[in-house]
Amino acid sequence: MLTQRLGFENQKDENYIKELIRIIGRNPGSCDEIWLATDYGFPPLGKHRESASLLGKSAELLKAAGIRVSLQISNTIGHGDYMGVRDCSGLDGAERFTDVDGVRAEYSFCWHGTRFREYLAEVIRIYCAAIMPHRVWIDDDFRYDNHSPAGKGCMCDSCLKRFNKRYGTLYDRQALSSAVRNDPRRRKDFSEFITDGLCETAEFIARTAVSASPGCSIGYQHGVGWLPTESGCRKLFEAFEKGSGKSVGTRPGAGTYNDLDPSDMIRKLDSIGYQCSVTAGMTDEVRPEIENFPHVAFGKSPAGTCYETSLYLAGGADAMSYATMMYGFEPLSWHGEFFRAFSLHRRYWEILSGLSRTTSGSGIVHYIPEDAWKRHIPGNRNGYDWAEIPWYTGNGIRRCGIPVTFDRNVPEPLYMLTAECAEAMSAEDVNYLSGKPVFCGGDALAVLCNRGFGNLFSASAEMCDTLLLYETYSDHPVNGEAAGRRWENGLLHREGAVIYDRTGETGILGTYGCDGNAPGTAGGISSATVKTSSGAEWYVTGQYPWTPIISHEKRGQMIRALDRISGRRLSAYSKGRHEVLVLPRENREKQTVSVTVLNTTVGTANGILLDVRRPAGRNVTAYLPDGNNMRPGAVFYDGGAEIALPAVQAWNFCTVVFE
Ligand SMILES: [Zn+2]
Repeated sequence: MLTQRLGFENQKDENYIKELIRIIGRNPGSCDEIWLATDYGFPPLGKHRESASLLGKSAELLKAAGIRVSLQISNTIGHGDYMGVRDCSGLDGAERFTDVDGVRAEYSFCWHGTRFREYLAEVIRIYCAAIMPHRVWIDDDFRYDNHSPAGKGCMCDSCLKRFNKRYGTLYDRQALSSAVRNDPRRRKDFSEFITDGLCETAEFIARTAVSASPGCSIGYQHGVGWLPTESGCRKLFEAFEKGSGKSVGTRPGAGTYNDLDPSDMIRKLDSIGYQCSVTAGMTDEVRPEIENFPHVAFGKSPAGTCYETSLYLAGGADAMSYATMMYGFEPLSWHGEFFRAFSLHRRYWEILSGLSRTTSGSGIVHYIPEDAWKRHIPGNRNGYDWAEIPWYTGNGIRRCGIPVTFDRNVPEPLYMLTAECAEAMSAEDVNYLSGKPVFCGGDALAVLCNRGFGNLFSASAEMCDTLLLYETYSDHPVNGEAAGRRWENGLLHREGAVIYDRTGETGILGTYGCDGNAPGTAGGISSATVKTSSGAEWYVTGQYPWTPIISHEKRGQMIRALDRISGRRLSAYSKGRHEVLVLPRENREKQTVSVTVLNTTVGTANGILLDVRRPAGRNVTAYLPDGNNMRPGAVFYDGGAEIALPAVQAWNFCTVVFE
């Protein structure tokens, strides 16, 4: 379950490896696998042979101690210009990676280049033969973008010729660059061209590795958008599987190198969630990367690393890889503190990992259109906006105890829709969503109306400035006892929308009010249930909705409105005023199997109360990261349960499991 990635010279030092084995032995369950890494850069092959020979000895020691060994290919194409500090003389004269606009990378290479291919294949063969790894992990420079200073490619002179030949075109560089930016058809051709090039290389890499070390399989390390289309991303995993003849592992990553702000890990959790939603069902393990660059004492602490591990395991990962000790800036004794902490968490993490393997994430499903790259972006800000998938725009809501998930395969989903995703939807997407329960801001409804889909809804919306406006709750049942009261957050988020009932079927939940000089929108509808022509109902709130900074009554309106439009589809939420992240998991029968709660404040949270719908059993256990467990207070009602959690420490977890 737990993997340490080593790097640079320490992994070749016999004494270092022996001491590491002793540390792992003293801390049971702290490390199951070590990744040994190829030399960084592109040194002459002789240098790789020397390194592989030493790593072969390290691998023997580790395997003899019962520790699994895998291989990390530190770079394939090349990460970017910061690789200039390494020896790159092994590929002198090879074709450089060049982006569509002609910017050439000095330390990244064209994947079609013959010399590059031969060199990479020999590197893989050398290390595979020496180490006989369990799995060969391909690092995240195997991507079409971000080869600093170059952007999207490869479109070197040879690739430009290939492109023109394939599509029967006569583009020079400038004309192709303009076409990829502005012409959707060429955008598609470009995406297809680079996807096929990278996939062909992936298959070649996988075949080479398995022929050199027949027992191994392939794992792929990536961030968001390793190719411009989601279908292309999936094709790459298929290519690795085809080339190796074995299932493929995924290692999603997204930075967060230190623990100065623990909220960063929540953003990374969502990035991982989105990445895994793209490749769902295609991989045999979800092993995110935790990186503590530059692996020093005042970067990320053992406690911060454990927090991050618990968070991703609770969010759907079933294993973890650590890049926390690749440099020798701190003594091995300090790194030993991490292993001690991991050992203490092992029991809790095994429970989370088991839940990830057998259940799906649950909550409001973040709707991200599959073909977002096709969209027209008003203003065409830099010509490549189409390649930026709008996956992270609305998740702030989850900090007030409303769960959000990226898992797309949950039955009978309740969706959330942001304005950015509404802009990116196709007509088919809009038709599909118009038949589903959806939570959105007035801005998303305004986008759909502007795009000509207004006749699908009982209400329309227009953008307005909500700085001076508050919302007064109507006496609609959704508002409960809040009727007549009010709230506002215009100083923080003034980009709102006003809603207009078109057909008389719109349920008015709130109206805008103003003290003093009233803008024209005062008196307009601020939140509503909106009927669709397919008979579904959407919950639309005019004030910017994707923030946790809302009142308890507004959160209550949200929960009751979501219950109304979806038939109580939410699996769990936190009832009180605690600032918490709620991560439920459910089985195929929509039964809630577990709920992990993260206290996102700096103090202990006492009295957290969960409403859990459709619990999978009446046997309830609360698990804590220290390995302890207890029976929480549980009151069952028809169709659900109220669970009273034990105290949850600052930035710490409690997981409730129903059996
Ligand atoms: Zn090229």
